[in-house]
Amino acid sequence: MTDRNDDLFERARTAIPGGVNSPVRAFGSVGGSPRFLAAARGATVTDAAGREYIDLVASWGPALLGHAHPDVVEAVREAALRGLSFGAPTEAEVELAELIADRVAVGEGRPVERVRLVSTGTEATMTAIRLARGYTGRDLLVKFAGNYHGHSDGLLAAAGSGLATLGLPGSAGVPAPVASQTLVVPYNDLGAVREVFEIHGDRIAGIIVEAAAANMGVVPPLPGYNAGLADIAHENGALLIVDEVLTGFRVHSAGYWGLQAEAGERYSPDLFTFGKVVGGGMPLAALGGRADVMDKLAPVGPVYQAGTLSGNPLSVAAGLATLRAATPQVYARVDAAASVVAGALSAALTAEGVDHSVPRAGNLFGMAFAAKAPVDNDEVQAQEAWRYPAFFHAMLDAGVSLPPSVFEAWFLTAAHDDAALERITAALPAAAHAAARA
Ligand code: PMP
Repeated sequence: MTDRNDDLFERARTAIPGGVNSPVRAFGSVGGSPRFLAAARGATVTDAAGREYIDLVASWGPALLGHAHPDVVEAVREAALRGLSFGAPTEAEVELAELIADRVAVGEGRPVERVRLVSTGTEATMTAIRLARGYTGRDLLVKFAGNYHGHSDGLLAAAGSGLATLGLPGSAGVPAPVASQTLVVPYNDLGAVREVFEIHGDRIAGIIVEAAAANMGVVPPLPGYNAGLADIAHENGALLIVDEVLTGFRVHSAGYWGLQAEAGERYSPDLFTFGKVVGGGMPLAALGGRADVMDKLAPVGPVYQAGTLSGNPLSVAAGLATLRAATPQVYARVDAAASVVAGALSAALTAEGVDHSVPRAGNLFGMAFAAKAPVDNDEVQAQEAWRYPAFFHAMLDAGVSLPPSVFEAWFLTAAHDDAALERITAALPAAAHAAARA
């Protein structure tokens, strides 16, 4: 039986490559037509056939407060009435830059002194690595297998997210000389990082790492790992870029860095990248960090970066409203919801005798069909991923929308109330059963 989603997918495939504007939206690895969404409110999304689902995608992260939070919608509406785009500085963007810097500060640590706003996470990381190169005068970059930092040429090597789902080692169209500037190292292995620095140390501009890896499922950094990366980078005159596009302002008011700092793990990243929550569902991302590094950006410095829509007033309004509404109670609510769902997920799979782990990084968690939580991309790839399509579709049939790939995190929001959590936990046993029989 087909429904309106199938009809739209048929049409979309003619008009749009693969029918989607971002590969992670396709149901390629789970099969079937993606749900074409017509509306999203609170913890739910509604598809083109009028069916409502409890949503665990949250637009891949931004919807920390839940979809269409009234304060955010109102802020965007008010901003729209004053003009859609100016291409000139605004007071609100200064406020957002200040707010980001203040939020990331923990105790004595104030690692973000300047902020530049851009429109996507891809732009933020692309600019951060250009800045690291411009600052150090070096070319090489260290990135980790299974970490995803957007789709700029140099960052697609062994990337997670949609590339992991599609099983791609990288992308066609990236010139070999560009790819050769990225040194890919296994995640969570400081010895491997030391080795590449021993060989190439004086040519490495920086290390880029997800604050907690969440684009190969969730693989939290081992204790001391991020701090160890900072030490290795700094001993060798390189910079550490911590990518908080996914984790920033989601796992904690100060991002994963803040969560770690609060737990006593203090270290000094040189640059951060933010996205998703910081734009509250509108196109906005940011990079920030040490003033002496950030001041290498044009117009004060020689590293060029620009954007017609950078600091767009609607996006800035959404970001400000979201960060202001992101109170400690919001994080407590999301943390508690994550614990309920992660616990119920594990219990359901255990009851069916399915080998699994539910790795967590703060309120982010994912699932892996492996008895031991993976610590790197090789272990992630070795799991029984073929169990996921049956699990995913059983949840979807029960009205729960999960990421259509086992290599993605699950996202809760502050709008997931007890009724929403009950619908998720009620759906899990049948899905676990389907996974067991897959
Ligand atoms: N970095 C990380 C850690 C991400 O998770 C993502 C997107 N999922 C990006 C960068 C790229 O952001 P965008 O999709 O906004 O370009």
